[in-house]
Amino acid sequence: MSSSPRWDRLWRGGHVATLAAGAGGYGEIRQGALAAQGRKIVWVGRERDLPAPADDLALEVVDLQGRWVTPGLVDCHTHLVFAGDRSGEFEARLRGATYEEIARSGGGIRTTMLATREASEEDLVRGASRRLAELRSEGVTTLEVKSGYGMETDTELRMLRAARRLGTDHSVHVQTSLLGAHVLPPEFEGRREAYLELIREEMIPLAVQEKLADAVDAFCDEIAFTPAECESVLLAGRRAGLALRLHADQLSDQGGATLAARLGARSADHLERTSPQGVAAMAAAGTVAVLLPGAFYFLKDDHPPPVPRFRDAGVPMAVATDMNPGSSPVSSILAVMNLGCLLLGLTPEEALRGVTLNGARALGLGGSRGSLERGKLADLAIWEIDHPRELSYWMGRNPCVGVVKAGEPTLS
Ligand SMILES: [Zn+2]
Repeated sequence: MSSSPRWDRLWRGGHVATLAAGAGGYGEIRQGALAAQGRKIVWVGRERDLPAPADDLALEVVDLQGRWVTPGLVDCHTHLVFAGDRSGEFEARLRGATYEEIARSGGGIRTTMLATREASEEDLVRGASRRLAELRSEGVTTLEVKSGYGMETDTELRMLRAARRLGTDHSVHVQTSLLGAHVLPPEFEGRREAYLELIREEMIPLAVQEKLADAVDAFCDEIAFTPAECESVLLAGRRAGLALRLHADQLSDQGGATLAARLGARSADHLERTSPQGVAAMAAAGTVAVLLPGAFYFLKDDHPPPVPRFRDAGVPMAVATDMNPGSSPVSSILAVMNLGCLLLGLTPEEALRGVTLNGARALGLGGSRGSLERGKLADLAIWEIDHPRELSYWMGRNPCVGVVKAGEPTLS
């Protein structure tokens, strides 16, 4: 076999931030180049070290003109599929109502539930496509989408079908999570166990049968479900072959991080009130901490997640938009990187790693996405910047000038 690589696309004349795990920093390669054969990266390095290609394949060369290439961004936690909005609730909050008060008085997630139950699959796809286009314009090539606004089997499955359809044009990879255990729907008031049984016995099996879900998720909090209730749902998901995620310790410390770690969940998400024991359990289990600065900001929370403890313990930190109509109506991943730095204390490098390699790890995709390395998919974002730290620096500016998905330009 020839030692010269074969490739059919080459990006040269710019700089590369690989974000590779062992590379240190951003994995910066000044005057770098990257070559892809089909869907995958076959070479990345300094342009002057670029070997001669094995033969004269129809080679397409892209001149980066001094721009930067990073991995395509990964938004590993979104509720992108929903109907309606909660701007009325936003006004109520600004008049003094709290998120918990709104939730306890039947508003909050239940408002979106009613609108989503009314919406057709077509309506859901149309609304989510707009939000997806906003994320894609900022370099997102992979994202996760949850159900959770149906809280009845038909609507939960319809949401997942809509989410699956978002990924069918191949410009973005979509992973889905069944979040039947979001909050208790009103018709099950006083019959909590009956609702949990519906999730375990009907929603999960049907979602798996139709291949609509990659993971199962639950909201472990005082206004949602107890750790024991979440555990029963996650275990049912695991038995059905789904990966596990958990909304944990956002509004109160319920030991959600520890539960996620104990069950081998890929991630525990939010984590504003996670205890030192929870951090240690996640570190030991290799659970990814998914930080959601948009929700922290929008809820005007004053208790940030224990970022210094995660950092010291070596817990991988991902960052995501949590795009949803109630607590994080934010469809800008660059904005949440900025918020993650200023409100949660991340460095710009941690923020970028959080929306690339660690975001991919939270989805179990760390082997194929999230960094620019030989053998991984050629998912790229191209930026008009002088340094990758700028991605966390500008607020309201989008320097993304190109997106490549599995070797194919999808936005330029
Ligand atoms: Zn969420």
